[in-house]
Amino acid sequence: MSIIDCKHLSISYEGRTIVRDVSFSISAGDYLCIVGENGSGKTTLMRTLLGLKKPDSGQVLFGDGCNVGGTADASCKQNHKIGYLPQKSNLQKDFPASVMEIVLSGTLNESGLFYTRKQKKKAISAMESLGILDLKKQSFMELSGGQQQRVLLARALCATEDILFLDEPVAGLDPKVTLEMYEMIRTLNEIGITIVMISHDIEAALEYSNHILHLNKDVDFFGTTEEYKKTELCEHYLCHIPDHLHHDDDCEICNERREHDQDHC
Ligand code: ADP
Repeated sequence: MSIIDCKHLSISYEGRTIVRDVSFSISAGDYLCIVGENGSGKTTLMRTLLGLKKPDSGQVLFGDGCNVGGTADASCKQNHKIGYLPQKSNLQKDFPASVMEIVLSGTLNESGLFYTRKQKKKAISAMESLGILDLKKQSFMELSGGQQQRVLLARALCATEDILFLDEPVAGLDPKVTLEMYEMIRTLNEIGITIVMISHDIEAALEYSNHILHLNKDVDFFGTTEEYKKTELCEHYLCHIPDHLHHDDDCEICNERREHDQDHC
């Protein structure tokens, strides 16, 4: 059964159409990767699903019939607690707070001014499951990029037990830390959390997801990852990942991809 159903979504900025007539659905337990070239509207679509941007037309229906399309309100968002890890920004690394404070802030949609014991327990449990409990008193600013991403993932986890939206969660991380993040996300999916992830890393998307949405303003493909692998679109996309998105020469996946490119493109 689908928990999020997008019907004919069109979204624009200042009269410029960014996403056009996009329909797809997400079922409980899915691991959906949204792929596509830069500027194809992936983040805009995710922000719309979160109720942060209004679509021009179409609907985002949640499992209980709640409609975010154009009518996002507090009670609707409350019913559909989505943990969100936004795209990395420069602001993020200079955030002056402790790890515990940042993770706890993920529970903010639950209560008023003060954190309850239940919220603190939740934050500790999230940190424990992501292996960062020993960092809880440290300043966020002093952490490595990989540790910061784990903290932000723990924060997102505090906001939900159901759905995580991740916007390029491994951008800028080295291959080892990238792999650790992917494995962590896989584990979260295995315990039943639905994952919706924007990714530039098509190899990883093919390995970890069970559904792919390939966006290019319209939907170029939506379906299972196994079906996607058989398409020319996938073959073409594998061959045209911009060089700057490849990792360094030590990355096995990238080396394999380079060999593949030489043979096929
Ligand atoms: P992607 O995530 O696929 O790289 P985005 O959704 O970030 O794409 O952006 C799609 C297009 O929307 C881009 O051309 C971008 O410039 C434009 N855009 C994104 N955010 C805004 C905004 N706040 N105001 C105006 N245009 C925007």
